[in-house]
Amino acid sequence: MAISHALLSPFSLPHIPSSPIHSPFRTHFQPHYTLRKFANFLDLKPESKPQPLKFDLPLFHPYSDRPRRFDAVVVGAGPAGLRLAEQLSAYGIKVCCVDPSPLSPWPNNYGVWVDEFQALGFQDCFHKTWPMASVYLNDEKVKFLDRPYAQVSRKKLKMKLMEECATKGVKFHKAKVWEIKHQEFESSVACDDGTEIKANLVIDASGFASRFTEYSKSKPRNCGFQIAHGILAEVEQHPFDLNKMVLMDWRDTHLGNEPYLRQDNKKSPTFLYAMPFDPNLIFLEETSLVGRPALPYAVVKRRMAARLRHLGIKVKRILEEEKCVIPMGGSLPKMPQAVVAAGGVAGMVHPASGYSVVLGMAAAPGVARRAAEGLGSGGRMIRGRALQGRVWEGVWPAERRRVREFYCFGMETLVRLDLEGLRRFFDAFFDLEGFYWEGFLSSRLSIRELGMLGLALFGHASPMSKLDILTKCPLPLLKMMANLALQAL
Ligand SMILES: Cc1cc2nc3c(=O)[nH]c(=O)nc-3n(C[C@H](O)[C@H](O)[C@H](O)COP(=O)(O)OP(=O)(O)OC[C@H]3O[C@@H](n4cnc5c(N)ncnc54)[C@H](O)[C@@H]3O)c2cc1C
Repeated sequence: MAISHALLSPFSLPHIPSSPIHSPFRTHFQPHYTLRKFANFLDLKPESKPQPLKFDLPLFHPYSDRPRRFDAVVVGAGPAGLRLAEQLSAYGIKVCCVDPSPLSPWPNNYGVWVDEFQALGFQDCFHKTWPMASVYLNDEKVKFLDRPYAQVSRKKLKMKLMEECATKGVKFHKAKVWEIKHQEFESSVACDDGTEIKANLVIDASGFASRFTEYSKSKPRNCGFQIAHGILAEVEQHPFDLNKMVLMDWRDTHLGNEPYLRQDNKKSPTFLYAMPFDPNLIFLEETSLVGRPALPYAVVKRRMAARLRHLGIKVKRILEEEKCVIPMGGSLPKMPQAVVAAGGVAGMVHPASGYSVVLGMAAAPGVARRAAEGLGSGGRMIRGRALQGRVWEGVWPAERRRVREFYCFGMETLVRLDLEGLRRFFDAFFDLEGFYWEGFLSSRLSIRELGMLGLALFGHASPMSKLDILTKCPLPLLKMMANLALQAL
């Protein structure tokens, strides 16, 4: 029997109110605290207009191309979708990538650690690198991390992936996927322009808000949410060292004259993430690391305005603006299911940091290899459920799922910590050997190494931090152990 995937988004991204009037936190503020009070950059509108890539896209022509069937359809030309399309086609698999606007620049600003991007072979896709990163814990303590960081050139990365796709024979179809229907041995992808594309395998890489990948309906997903407001701004001046990007600035002195904001920030803290390009150009992002429920967007903007004023950063022009809502942790999609998921929609987001661009792209070779085996390149040809099951094993291999349990434990810990708890936590975390903290942030550690990291972190932690861990984490710890035991069975 045919089953159809034209569901409402299982991800149900939270509605993040942007007006203070709708804020569930509004009772925490006195009525005169309006955005206007902090108005400066908040009144400015982004000035740059994103230009489409100039590239001769190899298009699929549904009425003239024969046959009209592909081995695989990839839904979405984000970083995960393009990388997967390119990897699949390297095995000789016939791929069609469907996206309403494949040549549009990606909207998100991606920050990555230089070494992890180099490991993927994308060292030529940086826009700017910084030799070090800094973490301000409070006014007295700042840590310098001896690990180069980079802002990705979205244009270079997308162009590189597009060129590789084109060279290897990937076809593109400019449309929005409307519905995916599955028969026993094939699927058909219906687009909003009326085109129907048939394939043996459909991979959903259409991002967090996808409505094609199913999550369990019986258990709540229980994710946390990272919320951030970012601007690329021309400023009169800023106080940051041009050789260091600011990974986290947890200082809260800017809220000294705002007792209500300060109290609120102590309970649900936000930090500043900043990439200084030159003395007058800087990317600034006020970020709630992870919250459940999500911190209202208006609160994040209000705190950012107060912070910039305190730092003496006067914004002259906003070149770009980004609004960030990232679901973190929580349960994974139902596995296996007829649609195979990749990237953000597959839960490939670091549950404790919200980073995902590297994870989504790094998983692609494993998924492509499994797909190639099943589709017949170098293996026995299989179809339908057997094929989908095989490819899902490539999306979330057993060891990666075990490791993810540990990261979800990390997220559950972070969600429970207040400002002081987070400061203590990161003080101990960045004191660990690079092997551990770098490996944790880049998802490189095995479950055994993560266990060692847990012990080392506890050893480094201050007495108060140990108390935090012991009092706030027993439940998440038990949950992690139970899930690990279930997986072992
Ligand atoms: C503002 C912001 C900043 C971020 N910053 C970072 C960061 O610094 N570092 C990091 O590692 N991660 C970051 N992330 C998280 C993560 O990297 C991104 O969300 C990443 O883009 C996920 O990649 P993806 O390919 O899975 O999905 P997306 O990038 O969301 O791509 C999905 C693609 O699918 C297409 N699509 C959607 N629906 C359909 C449909 N029905 N039919 C056809 N196509 C469709 C879209 O047009 C889009 O091209 C950030 C996220 C946000 C929101």
